[in-house]
Amino acid sequence: MLPVDCAGCGAFDVALCPACAALLRAPPWRCEGAAPRLDTMDGRAPLPVWAPAPCVGPVREIVVSWKDRGRVDLSRHLADATAGAARQVAPALGGWSPSTSLLVVPAPSSVTARWRRGEDLVGRLAAAAAQALADGLPGTRPCRALRRRWGGHDQVGLGARSRGANLADQIVVRRSTRAQVGGSPVLLVDDVLTTGATLAACERALTAAGAVVIGALVLAATPPPGRRSGGTGT
Ligand SMILES: [Zn+2]
Repeated sequence: MLPVDCAGCGAFDVALCPACAALLRAPPWRCEGAAPRLDTMDGRAPLPVWAPAPCVGPVREIVVSWKDRGRVDLSRHLADATAGAARQVAPALGGWSPSTSLLVVPAPSSVTARWRRGEDLVGRLAAAAAQALADGLPGTRPCRALRRRWGGHDQVGLGARSRGANLADQIVVRRSTRAQVGGSPVLLVDDVLTTGATLAACERALTAAGAVVIGALVLAATPPPGRRSGGTGT
């Protein structure tokens, strides 16, 4: 076993120290305003997105370590943080009624990203969110309704515009879940919100299949102006 340091701050001998874990447990805030690709350009309000943490400082280190540096030992911690955020967001979720099950749908990773990581990381967050929400919203369940088309490119290294163009055609609803998705309220889950291109493509695909996407939950988001120092509690 290799010794482990805190993925956020480097503290010795712990995967995630209490101070860094606390950064991910802050009350979620509405972060869609800082994501230009969620602007539908037609006067409709953008999809509501909640995040407990700004993607800066230790939080950014944690997320990058988890996604791209093989720190899958963080999955449990990040799933817990997502569950906590989901519980706090639950009262604000509109469009849900007891007669329809809320589906919690992970944003799909590209096939290459999944091979690289060896695990569907975002799927794990979605499962944790669904479990947390099921306490208050019975029938809530995770649903891997979306997939990337084969041949879709990994997003790494693409600019914002290319990402949007790449994604619009690449994220589709799985044939096997079409019947489930039609008419169902959906909460999307992703790891990070930056431009919003991924969530916009997810929303488009689900809406086309008849789902009602009521919002999205992410672990961390690009902070709005004035919160750039986030992660330090200021
Ligand atoms: Zn730390």
